[in-house]
Amino acid sequence: MTPKPQIRLLPPEVANKIAAGEVVERPSSVVKELIENSQDAGAGSIEVQVVAGGTRLISITDDGWGMDRDNALMALERHATSKIRDVGDIEHIATLGFRGEALAAIGSVSRFRMQTGVRETPGGTEIVMAGGKLQDVRDCGCPPGTTIEIRDLFFNVPARRKFLRSVATELSHVRQVFLVHALAHPETALRLVVDNREVWRLPGGATLEDRIRELFGVSYVGDLKPIHWAGGELNIEGYVGTPSLARADSSEQFFFVNGRPAGAPLIYRAIRESVQTLLPTGRYPSLFLFLTLDPGAVDVNVHPTKKEVRFRHGGEVRDGVMAALRAALAGGVRSAGDPAQPFSMFQTPPVIRAEPERQLHIENLPTSGVFRYPRMPAAGITPPPPETGAVLGAGQSSSVAAAPEGGGGSASTPWSWCRIVGQVGGLYVLLETEDGLVVMDPHAAHERVLFEKFMRRFLKGDLTSQSLLLPETVDLPPRDVQTVRDNLELLKKMGFGIAEFGGDTFLVDALPGGLTGLSVRTFLADMAGLLESAGDRGGRENARAEVIAQAACKAAVKARDRLTVAEIEQLVVDLATAEMPYTCPHGRPTLIFMSFQEFRRKFGRE
Ligand code: ADP
Ligand code: MG
Repeated sequence: MTPKPQIRLLPPEVANKIAAGEVVERPSSVVKELIENSQDAGAGSIEVQVVAGGTRLISITDDGWGMDRDNALMALERHATSKIRDVGDIEHIATLGFRGEALAAIGSVSRFRMQTGVRETPGGTEIVMAGGKLQDVRDCGCPPGTTIEIRDLFFNVPARRKFLRSVATELSHVRQVFLVHALAHPETALRLVVDNREVWRLPGGATLEDRIRELFGVSYVGDLKPIHWAGGELNIEGYVGTPSLARADSSEQFFFVNGRPAGAPLIYRAIRESVQTLLPTGRYPSLFLFLTLDPGAVDVNVHPTKKEVRFRHGGEVRDGVMAALRAALAGGVRSAGDPAQPFSMFQTPPVIRAEPERQLHIENLPTSGVFRYPRMPAAGITPPPPETGAVLGAGQSSSVAAAPEGGGGSASTPWSWCRIVGQVGGLYVLLETEDGLVVMDPHAAHERVLFEKFMRRFLKGDLTSQSLLLPETVDLPPRDVQTVRDNLELLKKMGFGIAEFGGDTFLVDALPGGLTGLSVRTFLADMAGLLESAGDRGGRENARAEVIAQAACKAAVKARDRLTVAEIEQLVVDLATAEMPYTCPHGRPTLIFMSFQEFRRKFGRE
């Protein structure tokens, strides 16, 4: 028989180390907790330094009210906090911290040094800890405020250390945390130093707009609409980006509740619902959303890292967010001719518009009307013979519509002949084929065609590069900078003239031939988002090239905006000979097919 187990209380350093697992996941979590503490201590200026992505050193200095010796020692105990006193206080939390866990947790999994002093007494206290064990407490000379240095995070938790990612990845998380807090507190001066190089120096006393301009660039701010909304106890402020800033991921959406960077599932849902008519699925508008409400109506104690909150009156918050966004997006974009449509500008003007005078009206189409396209073999990646275009026009159908040589390939060819019937909905192109009607989204089709052309040339190694008249500098958010940097060589190989310009800026002076007109910022941000979400697939050069090409083609098509009749005709030909004609490179359909057989059934003829 096994002996009866003995129950004991864990020594505090063991308990802290276990609890640290919840609060401290990686260097950026330490940065978050320490910035929040500085903020809670009334700091007007905070300096963050990291070395090796924060794995070697994280140091935070503030000019807040500091601590005297007793308080400094107390602060390192678990569940020691100056921010709440009793259970009742949990209901009305106005500070960022309150759990009293962070310093104890961080101190238990690192080499920790704190120097802190208060205004009232000269000098201060220095405390040194390693792995949760107090090593030294002494007087020191230091200005009022607090400096905390964390070295060798997880040096005594090998399992955790193993889970840390590359220095570049950890650094990008740190930078994201810094960014979020910089947005949350424009009034605070913030500085970020990475490997002894100053990356950001943000002046204090700024407005949110100043901060966004500082962080994202002047042109970015021009594309933002202000949000001001108040209803009952709820106040909503911030900015929302026009569709031109929308991204393929949500990394430029920032949420703050009572000054705390935090979101809630119901907020995300409300946003999705508000913008779903404005943006294609899978696009996320830039968003800086600040909710202020009675602290008693928010539960921030849902999660140890306080990333998400719960609302007592969820429905009101949801309705408020939706109304606020709607008002912001409607403001200033309501077009005079279209009073019934508050979102006129956002009703995503068809990205490809035929020029009005050349619209594909049925009456404008040649009376012979029937364009015949050959049934092409789906010929792998080999380009269709250039003569294909010449078939456009009538008369050659019988010979060219013959069965494909080599067999089997025709499965991917959407039609053996087709006739452009016209354009519907100001966008879609209606085609008649031998088996039924096809509705084509020319935007998606164009993307597919460009993408295949581009990839073919890339694989053959004969991409050309076209210089820009005016080289463009592009600022990117920290997360994307690394991705672009990692892919610089590949981008150059693909015909982009791109170089680092210092800090988070890139200089672009050439684009791949055939992709001119593309908005470089949208392209780079999209590409970074797609590469980040592509995960493992992103490792192989060809797979990465595909992702880059997808983003480029999308941006190029968007920039083109309109197609002429001749171009739409060419598009129909090109699509018929594409390797994968049915979807755009992002997987959305290019064609919707309704068979005559289905019509016969519906009309009761069958
Ligand atoms: P919490 O922030 O939840 O109270 P922490 O463990 O993060 O818990 O901090 C414990 C206490 O230490 C805080 O309540 C605060 O009184 C004090 N403290 C921490 N950091 C600072 C700082 N930078 N300046 C002044 N006081 C601080
Ligand atoms: Mg704290």
